[in-house]
Amino acid sequence: MLVKKAEFVISAVKPAQYPEDALPEIALAGRSNVGKSSLINCLIQRKNLARTSSKPGKTQTINFYRINDQLYFADVPGYGFARVPKSVRQSWGKMMETYLTGRETLKGVIQVVDLRHPPTADDQNMYQYLKHFGIPVIVVATKADKISRGKWQKHLKAVREGLELHQGDPLLLFSSETAYGKEQLWKEIEKCTGN
Ligand code: GDP
Repeated sequence: MLVKKAEFVISAVKPAQYPEDALPEIALAGRSNVGKSSLINCLIQRKNLARTSSKPGKTQTINFYRINDQLYFADVPGYGFARVPKSVRQSWGKMMETYLTGRETLKGVIQVVDLRHPPTADDQNMYQYLKHFGIPVIVVATKADKISRGKWQKHLKAVREGLELHQGDPLLLFSSETAYGKEQLWKEIEKCTGN
């Protein structure tokens, strides 16, 4: 995908603020600090359009980016903050459920995990949660540049097994440092959105 135009549209806290022009949408989810903002910036070839995820306690928002007037990326709040107050976790859960169950234009979710480590309990829960809602998931294992190529397959296997990945769900290697995997990820996105 040749990204000619990428615009930040809105940080939404409630559905009334979600964009309404009915373009297909792909959401991006991942543990806080996993590399989600870097992945978005890499995909859209902008240095700093996606900001790092909101810190615990700050207002949690869904950030919408319109790409080529063709599709939206919805950057949902990172999960798995250590030691956050229960109230923050509850508001995160409520916001996600509202979004995932109510967003008619949502075509799929890119779940970003760290290739270096086996999936955490939060990663497992998120994957199960998405499957529960019947949403197509593309799992992306990022920071591949931090692992030697000879060990990629072993680490991918740990991700696949840790998540109990369903057959047919794509699992892709990625690096925002080197842009490895970018074209393949765009292909999977295009399959989801029908672009
Ligand atoms: P977010 O909180 O998930 O949005 O994470 P960020 O995109 O802010 O990334 C967290 C940290 O990981 C930053 O220091 C990034 O520079 C680093 N990072 C993200 N992706 C990669 C990657 O693919 N390779 C390497 N080496 N570092 C990365």
